Amino acid sequence: MTQMMGIDALRTQLTGRVIDSSDFDYDSARSVWNGGIDRRPAVIARCTDPSDVAAAIAFGRERGVQISVRGGAHGSWEAAHAEGGLVIDLSDLHAVSVDPGSRRAWCSGGATIGDVDAATARHGLAVTGGTISHTGLGGLALGGGLGWLVHKAGLTVDNLLSAELVTADGRTLCVSADEHPDLFWALRGGGGNFGVVTGFEFRLHEIGPLVYLGMFFWRPEHGTEALRIGREVAASLPRNAGLVMAAGLPAPAAPFVPVAHRGTPGYGLMIVGFGSALEHHRLIAPISEALPPLFEFVTPLPYVELQKLMDQTAPWGVHAYEKGLYLQELSEDAISILSENIPRKSSPMSFTTIFSLGGAFADVGEQETAFAGSRATRFVVNVAAIAPDAELLATDRVWARSLWQALVPHASASGGYINIMADYDQDRVQAAYGPTKYRRLAAIKARYDPDNIFRMNANIKPAP
Ligand SMILES: Cc1cc2nc3c(=O)[nH]c(=O)nc-3n(C[C@H](O)[C@H](O)[C@H](O)COP(=O)(O)OP(=O)(O)OC[C@H]3O[C@@H](n4cnc5c(N)ncnc54)[C@H](O)[C@@H]3O)c2cc1C
Repeated sequence: MTQMMGIDALRTQLTGRVIDSSDFDYDSARSVWNGGIDRRPAVIARCTDPSDVAAAIAFGRERGVQISVRGGAHGSWEAAHAEGGLVIDLSDLHAVSVDPGSRRAWCSGGATIGDVDAATARHGLAVTGGTISHTGLGGLALGGGLGWLVHKAGLTVDNLLSAELVTADGRTLCVSADEHPDLFWALRGGGGNFGVVTGFEFRLHEIGPLVYLGMFFWRPEHGTEALRIGREVAASLPRNAGLVMAAGLPAPAAPFVPVAHRGTPGYGLMIVGFGSALEHHRLIAPISEALPPLFEFVTPLPYVELQKLMDQTAPWGVHAYEKGLYLQELSEDAISILSENIPRKSSPMSFTTIFSLGGAFADVGEQETAFAGSRATRFVVNVAAIAPDAELLATDRVWARSLWQALVPHASASGGYINIMADYDQDRVQAAYGPTKYRRLAAIKARYDPDNIFRMNANIKPAP
């Protein structure tokens, strides 16, 4: 690859490192979580502060190259990673500081969920994060942010108090309900369209330090009944609890799993309690009686360990593809589609997660944030094809699309979670937000990024 002009000048402008193909660590610097994405950017600017970000944006604009923004590098849409372009890489910008008195955290734009949890848990505090600790806060929060705490504390972005943002024209803005309220609304669900967020300020909640986990696992032939039990528990899930179902998941190679069952695919139901051990016990006690599981694991554990519990299901470097949708109900039809299709996957690593939504998530008004989805939604389904190599992924990509397609007639009429779309087209992005939110986002985009500099994402086109 010929070197882009001016990279040495950029090196002198930035405090952080500037990496190109002549650097020894270019290949590791360009690698992302999804091992199937093999893009070769011309230059990677490892920004360490807003002025680095502004200089990198100016560099990209002057040369007319595509600009990608990288937080935790978990985004699964290949085209968001610029081939021959400029990557604004925030991975060196990961500090998190906590003020336990006011229960607030200041999180740098390139922090991972693990960075945030480690800093907040020291004070018995947390904000909603994802269920895999190496996911980036940046992409996760800007699209919404779902995790174990969604019933108790809402989406990650429902807890946003302010953000520091570098705009397409290089200004650093403080964005909150009082300053640039239009942008503050747009950042809460509108993705990476409006600039580069170098810092997020979140409201925190008292959590743990110990929380309570109940994990139940059934054989594939019990899928229908297992999903019905999950539906029943979700229907009356208290705010102090979180629930995730995982269909097709291989039983982990963990000490609590009998050796004979490790790696066996099946249906997992995980219920976490954030209140007392007794409350959690009452919530989970009927489950084993209703349908004796292959194994179960009930334990108190530190919140930070809960947040890493599923990390092994999605290690760096796997090949992945995903499709998501919202379900208003986990109907009998949806359950039959899931249990018929789950055994058709080929890769042992592929699985489908179903998150229960409600509680604090549903307290937020439909138009209060830009989040692409209705607050009346009860479940988010993520069909994840995950494989050790491209060949097996190609097979399970077909499986994921076909399972998703079969579920579409049962999906909520409005919205789609932009963080779990592996391929975006303009129609789908517009449909995800719905016409009212999309129009409002497009008008804000026209104000702050009229040239659509930040377009390597679930793109909102600037209103004419
Ligand atoms: C293994 C795995 C587990 C996941 N689990 C969950 C989960 O539990 N809950 C959930 O809600 N989602 C989950 N997701 C989806 C996740 O939220 C999205 O993939 C998200 O985009 C990841 O953000 P990132 O910063 O790691 O990714 P990146 O690829 O770095 O960023 C994705 C996009 O976000 C934007 N972006 C990132 N950081 C910034 C920033 N600081 N400023 C401006 N724009 C930025 C850019 O447009 C970029 O293209 C998961 C994804 C994976 C792969």
